[in-house]
Amino acid sequence: MREIIVLSGKGGTGKTSVTAALGVLAAGKAVIADCDLDAANMHLLMQPEVLKKEAFFSGELAEIDPEACINCGMCEEVCHFDAVHQDAEVYDINPLRCEGCGYCEVVCPTNAISMHVRRSGDFFVSTARTGDPMAHAHLDAGADNSGKLVAKVKEEAKRLANQHQRDLILVDGAPGIGCPVVSSLAGVNYVVLVTEPSASGLHDLKRLVEVLQQFRLQAGCIINKADLNHDQAEAIRTFCFENGIEMIGEIPYDTAFTAAMIQGKTIVESDNQLKQIMDKIYISIQHKINVL
Ligand code: SF4
Ligand code: SF4
Repeated sequence: MREIIVLSGKGGTGKTSVTAALGVLAAGKAVIADCDLDAANMHLLMQPEVLKKEAFFSGELAEIDPEACINCGMCEEVCHFDAVHQDAEVYDINPLRCEGCGYCEVVCPTNAISMHVRRSGDFFVSTARTGDPMAHAHLDAGADNSGKLVAKVKEEAKRLANQHQRDLILVDGAPGIGCPVVSSLAGVNYVVLVTEPSASGLHDLKRLVEVLQQFRLQAGCIINKADLNHDQAEAIRTFCFENGIEMIGEIPYDTAFTAAMIQGKTIVESDNQLKQIMDKIYISIQHKINVL
């Protein structure tokens, strides 16, 4: 079994569109995992039929029993996250600020504070419109994407791959270089980097490659809208060459890219230059993972 993750150093590079296009090209062979939980929109392109939905709990949240509280204020004093507030003489905890450290519970003289598991979202097992199994999730508003839910999505994707005898797990990773990205790298065989030709695109690509080098992961790069800034595109090619990252494709700016998204389709589902480019990118990635 091989696992490919599609990453971008920043949002808005077309990462999810590229992942979904690869998912359509790999139909019948892959399991799809959407680990971009802060902006989970793979479902818009894959239109999955949900087979299983489960609440996901992660971390803890403090709660004050107003009956037992004597308004001493010690919890507010010790909270480093400014999560405790007094309103009309009643102490209360802001769940969006509480980090679940439990300090307030320890200092409360009347045991008025208790810790509870925190619901952070829902987790789904589905069938994508390609007929492939799909693991994905939805974070509750304000819930922290700690990486635990990412790990859960990936674990389920592996289980589905075994159950359905699929050789490939295709992961849509989170943008940036934070905890969700690091969490999503476990077990990955090959990284597809999607960037755009701009100063910020190159800057964020460099930061991401530094992270990948810590994990000694092989990566290939796709420049989206490559023809919009020739100098920056050349700077990205040079950076990739110097860091052992193969250029696996360049996608020109084409209104068909946005048109496909608006229709809830991928760029390989109509006959245009983007399909031919993505076909070549997919073949190139297949060659790469076959020799890993
Ligand atoms: S420490 Fe306990 S008793 Fe004191 S204000 Fe907080 S909840 Fe109330
Ligand atoms: S658990 Fe920690 S973060 Fe939450 S209210 Fe108590 S002291 Fe503050």
